[in-house]
Amino acid sequence: MNKLFSSIDTLNGVGIKREKFLRKLDVNTPYDLLYHIPRSYIDYSHTQPVFDIKIGENCCVRSKIIRKLSPNLTAKIEIYKALATDGEASFELTIFGNKYLFETLTDGEEYYAYGKLSQYYDKIQLIAAHIVPITAENLIQPVYPLTNGLTSNMLQTNVRESLNIAKNELSDYMPTEITEKYELCDLMTALQNVHFPVSYDGLEIARKRLAFDELLFLQLGMQFLKYNNGETTDFELKPVDMPNLFPFELTNAQKNAIAEITADLCRNIPMNRLLQGDVGSGKTAVAAYAAYFAVQGKCQIALMAPTTILATQHYNTFCDLLGKKAKICLLTALLSTKEKNAVKNQIKNGEFDIIIGTHALFQKSVEYQKLGLVIMDEQHRFGVAQRAALISKGNAPHRLVMSATPIPRTLGLVIYGDLDITIINELPKDRIPIETFAVTGKLRERAFGFIKKQLNLKHQAYVVCPAIEESEELNSVVEYCEMLSHGYFRNYRVSLLHGKLPAEQKDAVMTAFKNNEIDILVATTVVEVGVDVPNATIIMIENADRFGLSQLHQLRGRVGRGKDKSYCVLISDNPVEEVRDRLKIFSKLNDGFQIAEEDLKNRGPGDFFGKEQHGLPKLKIADIASDMELINATQTCAKEILEDDPKLEKHHALKVEVMRMTARLKS
Ligand code: ADP
Ligand code: MG
Repeated sequence: MNKLFSSIDTLNGVGIKREKFLRKLDVNTPYDLLYHIPRSYIDYSHTQPVFDIKIGENCCVRSKIIRKLSPNLTAKIEIYKALATDGEASFELTIFGNKYLFETLTDGEEYYAYGKLSQYYDKIQLIAAHIVPITAENLIQPVYPLTNGLTSNMLQTNVRESLNIAKNELSDYMPTEITEKYELCDLMTALQNVHFPVSYDGLEIARKRLAFDELLFLQLGMQFLKYNNGETTDFELKPVDMPNLFPFELTNAQKNAIAEITADLCRNIPMNRLLQGDVGSGKTAVAAYAAYFAVQGKCQIALMAPTTILATQHYNTFCDLLGKKAKICLLTALLSTKEKNAVKNQIKNGEFDIIIGTHALFQKSVEYQKLGLVIMDEQHRFGVAQRAALISKGNAPHRLVMSATPIPRTLGLVIYGDLDITIINELPKDRIPIETFAVTGKLRERAFGFIKKQLNLKHQAYVVCPAIEESEELNSVVEYCEMLSHGYFRNYRVSLLHGKLPAEQKDAVMTAFKNNEIDILVATTVVEVGVDVPNATIIMIENADRFGLSQLHQLRGRVGRGKDKSYCVLISDNPVEEVRDRLKIFSKLNDGFQIAEEDLKNRGPGDFFGKEQHGLPKLKIADIASDMELINATQTCAKEILEDDPKLEKHHALKVEVMRMTARLKS
């Protein structure tokens, strides 16, 4: 019993060497191998005559070996060849570097060969990547993620054995009500068919079951985190009158958001809310009201931002607004150790009401006296684990997370399954849409002229370059800044901001820009998140094609934050048509949600936030971008299960799987 979870080397044929390769693929047990899902499949049942295939096409050809030729072993990669025929045309069956595969071929026998048709002088070649005898049982063959040293055949043998073990040891954790309602096949059938499908229909059925399971566990796991199994907070606040904190009238969406948040704060279950709103929609104002409310309720508030620039900006805003009503401090890497220790002491003693900072806020050494509300700005910059670390500093504090990255709905359902969502779908009234131009470098001078015009109107400008070092052909931001300040803009105040500057210097530059002591800020993407200087009305972005659309939207959101008309100029010399189209589309869109959908279409969810910033575990089977229907189905299913059995006490086998997923979520 329990061979399934024993070490992978208990399988036949797995010696020290193969074990190492398998572990490299994160396959440590026969069970892991069951979930080492094929990357794709080759359909050998669908063959074509060579005459019908275009050069360069991938194809499968029924090939009879006329005669194996002697290999060319002097080339960089060994080349193995055989003369073959499909019955009409003869051609060279060519194998690169795979002696083992070549050795399986016998003169006079027939095979299915899969590969790319090519032409070498007047010879037709089939560069074969995969070959199976026509007597093979499975004509749909799995293609596995492999590593050097492992062949598909080895893996298949080991998977077969693991499936046999599973037949004895694995029981289906899914209740039959669910498999029936959602038309799912049983687990063993699914595993068998995903590795060795007999037909594409069978494969689809298998994939559906496994993807369903994966998404269901994810959602159940998220719901678990959301409700924290009956967690209650010490900070059940009382309603208070809210003064006008800002000189402007709040938008209806902001008022609504504040109402939802303050209602949450008056409950004994901790708030777990995402405040989502396009760049410039005024999320900080909402956060300030939430903080004010919590200060009245006599608890401490921690506001965490992803960069020191942003934390400092929030600190200044909060001091302006609430400085008389609350004690506020800033905790970032900018402080000296001595200052830090002093601040930490005061936080611990409860002398500060509002604590603003960066990652420093959840360091081990920081203790709070009565942390009742945690606010995270630009939350997609923080992983689930970091969120959890800050939350654990209080006794079930309320949580408000804010994000300007509009998430496509499907993605949001999964990523934010553990949160309630408030959307600010309205910009302040006086905003004029930003006008965007996508141009080539030929128009750079004209763009400079345009910037000058804005500067002469006493406005300020950003120029963004993607990189710091002089790598590839990217404009080095340092040189670029020199060029501007000594050339075209020598009569203006030009300054540089990039991530590698010491923190104090970054802070000084940003403060100077805010105070209108700098005309042009030449910067890398450090200005991307949250920076708020309403007097800046133009942003020029070099090598704009290097950015995802959502990131461009973030960058563009640095302007158009006041009442003056603002402009964005995208410069790119990338000639690829799709790239140019993408920038054209972007220049016509102003709505972050539409842009996000566009981005998801173009780049897929993996890239959506940059690498793994959303803190979701990597999915093995389901695809967040295309499995929309399954995401919806599993959401309903998760809800139904939890309504009846919130702690999964009646679903023991299922709970084991969900815990496996939550472990992945937290790691
Ligand atoms: P974001 O949602 O991108 O974080 P901010 O909270 O930084 O946006 O707000 C952007 C700018 O809009 C700030 O300068 C802020 O003072 C201003 N602002 C916020 N709400 C309003 C409003 N209701 N009317 C006018 N200006 C507002
Ligand atoms: Mg913001």
